[in-house]
Amino acid sequence: MKVLVINCGSSSLKYQLINMENEKVMAKGLVERIGLEGSQLKHQPEGMDKIVIEKPMKDHKDAIKVVLDALLDENHGVIKDMNEISAVGHRVVHGGEKYSGSVLITEDVMKVLEECTHLAPLHNPPNIIGINACKDLMPQTPMVAVFDTAFHQTMPKHAYIYPLPYELYEKHGIRRYGFHGTSHRYVSKVAADLVGKDIKELKIITCHLGNGASVAAIDGGKSIDTSMGFTPLEGLAMGTRCGDIDPAIVTFLQKEENLSYEEVNNLMNKKSGVLGISGVSSDFRDIENAAFDGNERAQLALDVFHYRVKKYIGAYTAAMGGLDVLVFTAGLGENSPETRYEICKNMEYLGIKIDAEKNKVRGKVQEISTEDSRVKVFVIPTNEELMIARDTVEIVNNL
Ligand code: AMP
Repeated sequence: MKVLVINCGSSSLKYQLINMENEKVMAKGLVERIGLEGSQLKHQPEGMDKIVIEKPMKDHKDAIKVVLDALLDENHGVIKDMNEISAVGHRVVHGGEKYSGSVLITEDVMKVLEECTHLAPLHNPPNIIGINACKDLMPQTPMVAVFDTAFHQTMPKHAYIYPLPYELYEKHGIRRYGFHGTSHRYVSKVAADLVGKDIKELKIITCHLGNGASVAAIDGGKSIDTSMGFTPLEGLAMGTRCGDIDPAIVTFLQKEENLSYEEVNNLMNKKSGVLGISGVSSDFRDIENAAFDGNERAQLALDVFHYRVKKYIGAYTAAMGGLDVLVFTAGLGENSPETRYEICKNMEYLGIKIDAEKNKVRGKVQEISTEDSRVKVFVIPTNEELMIARDTVEIVNNL
């Protein structure tokens, strides 16, 4: 079975075609600048050179057409017939409280996705547009929605209710949802396999440290808490997002700086995080380089970032009453030994000891804890696309 995995952003679309017989990627790529001047597709067929196709694409339907043409092309394509694509798996950011797992996309599901749009006004609309475009072009192909929020639906109420008037939860659904669920689910499963134990017996903390970053506490295979909240703005300091701040700062800025709702929103989402502190960049590589060259604010940004991850590890160990496995994943978690070292430093009292030599690893699965570390620490590259494709196969096979 071949599964096409689609991840639509507002002006971009990422895809992978995966052969599920061997779980190998046949082709992957990225369309950028959809609906804008200069739209293009970067298509990477497995084992061949990457190609760039520049073509006007006015909407996501145009973009998906260009992707399908590339997959079918006689020179750089990887399939001969559209019917070879047995199913499509769509990444959908918000499933609200309705979905605690992946679902076959039906008219009823589309209605729920529309209802969830007010919870994720930036993310769900492009996901819905992408699904509709695929349905138009491949009307007979089953489609599955895999939600970023679903894995965290197992959180107990005391972890997801905010100390606000309870009516706001009832009226607007204001609560912690959590995000990056597909990634936390994937790496926790791989970690349990590596330890050779049933995930039900393990207490795992997964640190997804990329441009967006979140930590999850996974007790017995279930997410019991996570650092992102009602939106992906809560929790860790991120590339450009502020994470946890005193909420009074928002009203202070509105009053003292005369900022509008849009301006405060933009400041917290786009101008804060390690970019805001360092003034250098939102890219951790640039910040690490600047810090190495003696830039104090770059060093401060890194210190804040590491300190906050460390605090969440401590908090979640307390929440679970122990810790067996700690996992680092995503761009920074997979590739930055310095980040992992700084976070794990002085955590021996919790049973976390990392091996400096093993910790040099970048971008591949590796245990980085010492032989005598009570907590096993792993670097595990995330693979959200594979998880989406696996869920898609499972659902389609049960039709
Ligand atoms: P992601 O959102 O998962 O794609 O992660 C992107 C982030 O990972 C960016 O801030 C990158 O700077 C960071 N990153 C990727 N490779 C490295 C590396 N070798 N060292 C430090 N940070 C890295």
